[in-house]
Amino acid sequence: MKTVNTKATKLGAVCMRTLSIVASFTIAWSITGQCEVAMAGDHSVIAVEPKLIHLRNGESQEWASFPKQAEAEQLVLTFDAKPQEPQEPQEPQEPLGTLTLTQSDVKESWTVTLNSKPLGQLVRDENELETDFLIPSGTLKQGTNQLSITCRNNSPSDDIRVGRIVVHASAPSTIRSEAKLQIEILNQDHIPVPGRITVTNGRGTLVPIGTKSGNGLAIREGVIYTANGRADLAVASGEYKITVGRGLEYSAPSTSLRISAGETAKRTLILEKQVATDNWIACDTHVHTVTHSGHGDCTIEERMATLAGEGIEFPIATDHNQQIDYRPMAETVGVTPYFTSVIGNEVTTKRGHFNAFPALANGHTPNHNELEWGKLFDNIYSTPNIRVAILNHARDLHSNFRPFSPRHHLSLTGDNLDDWQQNFNAMELINSGAVQTDPMELFRDWCGLINHGLRVTPVGCSDSHDVSRYIVGQGRTYIQADDHNPGLIDTEAALDSFLNGRVIVSYGLLVQLQVSSSTELANSQGPGDTLSIRQNTDSTEQTTLIITAKVLAPHWSRPRKLQLFLNGTPKFSVDLNPKTKTRQPFASTIQWNIPTEELPHDAWLTAVATGDGINSPHWPTAKPYQPDSAIFESKTFSCTGPIWLDANGDGEYRSARDYAKALISQTPVDQKTGKPDLEALAKSLNTHDQAVVNQALALLLKSEIEPSQVISAGVGKRGREFERQWRQARQARIEQQE
Ligand SMILES: [Zn+2]
Ligand SMILES: [Zn+2]
Repeated sequence: MKTVNTKATKLGAVCMRTLSIVASFTIAWSITGQCEVAMAGDHSVIAVEPKLIHLRNGESQEWASFPKQAEAEQLVLTFDAKPQEPQEPQEPQEPLGTLTLTQSDVKESWTVTLNSKPLGQLVRDENELETDFLIPSGTLKQGTNQLSITCRNNSPSDDIRVGRIVVHASAPSTIRSEAKLQIEILNQDHIPVPGRITVTNGRGTLVPIGTKSGNGLAIREGVIYTANGRADLAVASGEYKITVGRGLEYSAPSTSLRISAGETAKRTLILEKQVATDNWIACDTHVHTVTHSGHGDCTIEERMATLAGEGIEFPIATDHNQQIDYRPMAETVGVTPYFTSVIGNEVTTKRGHFNAFPALANGHTPNHNELEWGKLFDNIYSTPNIRVAILNHARDLHSNFRPFSPRHHLSLTGDNLDDWQQNFNAMELINSGAVQTDPMELFRDWCGLINHGLRVTPVGCSDSHDVSRYIVGQGRTYIQADDHNPGLIDTEAALDSFLNGRVIVSYGLLVQLQVSSSTELANSQGPGDTLSIRQNTDSTEQTTLIITAKVLAPHWSRPRKLQLFLNGTPKFSVDLNPKTKTRQPFASTIQWNIPTEELPHDAWLTAVATGDGINSPHWPTAKPYQPDSAIFESKTFSCTGPIWLDANGDGEYRSARDYAKALISQTPVDQKTGKPDLEALAKSLNTHDQAVVNQALALLLKSEIEPSQVISAGVGKRGREFERQWRQARQARIEQQE
């Protein structure tokens, strides 16, 4: 009855497989992805390739999680088919067909070609998803057919998996509309709320949906955002897992179901608010649309559903060199109660990208052709209304320029080596669309800027251009502000708070921090506040700083570690042990004490929580956009804005840079050399912390004093890290290495 011949041979790097099926019977496609022999029916299906195959474009391994050797560089398959003859010979059109495949880890541009006719491209998305290609009439041939999947020439290395390829005799719209799913998302008060619906098959693969975006829905393979909490979806018959969610703060309930052709399945899922964020608003400072940025895939209409569906209350529209007002579209889609949008602009220059806001839709835009940072920031801040300029993705390379390349920037001390003015007032620590291989790298860069004496608000954002590939609001910034009415947020008050550092950077979890002194327990301070420490003169008891950190996460996120940083140096660290297999949210409160006599001078505090990256298809954390290494371990991250400690109670916080400047100016000058007496300086640095030592070394470079001289004068190993970074910077400058 059946003849299935599989012959696989390797010719050079090209994988040649021949798989011929004589279609004297049909193979029905089941939702679990397995091919099972069935009676001939409406769905004649040819199984072309049952397995997932590892392809690698380029020479080098993109990710260590893939085998060292790929199975092939591109896929070329031949298979036999007997397309159904038109039932009525006079019909002018042969029936259309569908080629369905499963793909994962696709970053570059891969083309699917059938018998020399390009069917389309793989979805550029690293998530595992099934996707359909329409086979135009006349493309499938009687007898031998050739299918190829190839990457565009000269693309960077890309490890992908592709397979489970089947050919159906009907069009995608037919096979994806056999059955109906009606999903409703309710909050705990049983009121429908916007959210995200994730639909996977039995293998956990995202599956195509027969319904198109529109009417408040934004739809991609296995991902549906709904602006009003309801979605009527056309799907193929089969077995599904449905998960709903609404960003960081909510639970992610799921349900499994099997649905046959002609059936409608109705499900209502109730979201639980699991991360309390009273008096904090969820902001994404970096949001794009394909409508106005020209790349990615999310239209401005779809963006409304994705923002509301991820629980973003304060989105900043930052298309490249454009100032877009989301409000008319928010009204059209009916999402005005859920967020207050702000008009912004990703000022995209050849010397870095800067998110500037609030802007006017019809006002003039900052000059993105300006190359000099000083002039550029003058230009940005003199643009009507603009108060904020964020330094975006400072470690990424764009236009062959990397703002925080060692060539331009000393991370440890926040020094710009070209003496450019660093007048940005915020910086991205998390850009969830372009995460770093080392999740702490931008955090350390930020600590350097704060110790340098700059007031830079730390930011989390998504930089999403997409509906699904990168999730809008996954990286986000919580801003301390009145959150009673997300549709009517006082923008100027929220931005005051933002510029004062009253923020929490969040990427999959949330850390909160409060500090008070034992003499004034009621006077507790949070991010952006200054705590003036008054010594207790009436008592012999010493004054103690009481530091309280709280880590919060929904049930689907696993926090692992909490650290407290004092002047950018780790002071305390604790391991967090979330229970596995529980639907309960995570909440843990940790308290630390620091006797104030241990504080030699003013300083600042921040807490950092990290955890496991999220694998669940309902909110997966992405791989790095510009990886430094093939080895990558995904991590969640959260940190707070700085709490300033005024250790001597003079009412003012002074930075490590201020202390270093004062110490150098107080150091006696050596009569012979005209330079500061380094031994004397080393002695005074002994009573100051590491941040002050680093800043002193950076300042001495300006008098042409090398770190090695200060190290041998008595600073010793406390100068080694600065010396290492300075050596690296010098090398990068000689080699002009970005
Ligand atoms: Zn950018
Ligand atoms: Zn961007």
